[in-house]
Amino acid sequence: MNFKKLDINGFKSFFERTTFLIEDGLTGIVGPNGCGKSNIVEALRWCMGETSAKSMRGVGMEDVIFSGTDNKSSKNISEVSLTIDNLKKDGPLQYKNLDEILITRKIVRDKGSKYYMNNKEVRARDVQTFFADLSTGAHSPSLISQGRIGSLVTSKPIERRSILEEAAGISGIHARRHEAETRLNAAENNLKRADELKKQQQKQLDNLKKQAEEATRYKEISKDIKKIEAGIYFLKIKEIEKDKKNIGEKLSEQEDEISAIKIDFNHNNSLLEEENKRLAPLRDKKMENSAKLQKLNLDMASLDEEEKRIKNLQVKLSKSLNTIDSDLEREKSIALDATLNEKRILEEKNELLKTEKQLYETETISSENLSLSKNF
Ligand code: ATP
Repeated sequence: MNFKKLDINGFKSFFERTTFLIEDGLTGIVGPNGCGKSNIVEALRWCMGETSAKSMRGVGMEDVIFSGTDNKSSKNISEVSLTIDNLKKDGPLQYKNLDEILITRKIVRDKGSKYYMNNKEVRARDVQTFFADLSTGAHSPSLISQGRIGSLVTSKPIERRSILEEAAGISGIHARRHEAETRLNAAENNLKRADELKKQQQKQLDNLKKQAEEATRYKEISKDIKKIEAGIYFLKIKEIEKDKKNIGEKLSEQEDEISAIKIDFNHNNSLLEEENKRLAPLRDKKMENSAKLQKLNLDMASLDEEEKRIKNLQVKLSKSLNTIDSDLEREKSIALDATLNEKRILEEKNELLKTEKQLYETETISSENLSLSKNF
């Protein structure tokens, strides 16, 4: 398997999509300082599963996304794809049917990285293991960054071991061993958890056994209760049936009575009809009489009214008569008074006349005496 092509888009200084063809033989990249040569190697390491932002000369992994220049705005996505040629079919077994394998890593701002193998999303570990099997990877000693040649020469045997292992093509075994160890640890943890679970379940089982025993006892007692209840219900049903029979008998008696009453009722009804027929002319007569009675009542009422009026008149007349009588009495006493007065006046008149006569006689005598004396 050989690296065939590297596509970089939006990674570090590569604003536009840039493709590097890696041909047979030695490939050299030449350029002025700061033109992005190291960025190409970093793109390769990043695509192979680099997880350390520091080793990518950044603070966070999003620092690999093109951050913009004076005349170009920043990007939100960075993508690197590595095409691997598999024409010799010397790669991992699962890819033996493929002539080309495409590994892609993509990072979106605030959303993290994703890996794809032949455009199918995979885990980071899958990509890392794939490259380890190919005796390469993000941390391969074959990738020597600036200033690290010296440290490689002076490195300890244990550090050089990785170079030898890679040369021997067994770095994948290490990666797999690491994965196997991780899985083993996970399995051990699972086993411990399973043990704890087993203990818990044993406790639960004991509880359940107790509950089952109680449930069995409950069932037996329930059965007894049900039997007793069934007996009680049976006796009750018997009583009910007896009552039902009695009620049925009473019902039939009452039905007989009802049918007798119905016969009587029908008979009485027919009698009533006959009576009604007989009573019809009487009713007419009654109606007639009622009308007459009503008329008589009206006449009586008017006569009563008349009587009342006459009585009132009588009362008034008797009152008038009384008044007249008292007036008459009063007039009579006045007349009597007047008669007595007249009589007294006449007596007084006679007295006066008598007195006048006496006076006249006295006067006459006096005057005669007077004239006689004169003559003398
Ligand atoms: P030298 O020869 O000096 O080692 P070089 O060719 O290897 O240089 P690199 O170190 O690959 O250059 O690239 C550095 C350049 O990449 C700098 O100009 C820096 O501004 C640019 N760069 C790094 N990260 C980003 C980024 N996220 N966005 C835009 N440009 C970036």
